[in-house]
Amino acid sequence: MLGYRLQRDLHCPVILCDACGEPIFEHGNVYWVLPIGETQTTAVWHTHKGKCARFDEVIKEVTGKRALWEELSWFIKQVNNNTLVDPQVTTGVGG
Ligand SMILES: [Zn+2]
Repeated sequence: MLGYRLQRDLHCPVILCDACGEPIFEHGNVYWVLPIGETQTTAVWHTHKGKCARFDEVIKEVTGKRALWEELSWFIKQVNNNTLVDPQVTTGVGG
């Protein structure tokens, strides 16, 4: 899940782990199940790498579907590319 966290008086965007609920500040994974159709999208789940890995087994148990996964860093790069966000912006405070 994506969210904002107040840290040192800054509103910092963070990714929360869907397994433990804590922010992911280091390496993580992204999981998703295959969309039903070509133009449909599917939800994604984010987890810490290591301590919260193997979330694909939880997804399989809950949805009955096999989950795919990739490194969180690649997912962020792909989202950045797909939304044409300026790669020079590394921090931000809303307003
Ligand atoms: Zn976690």
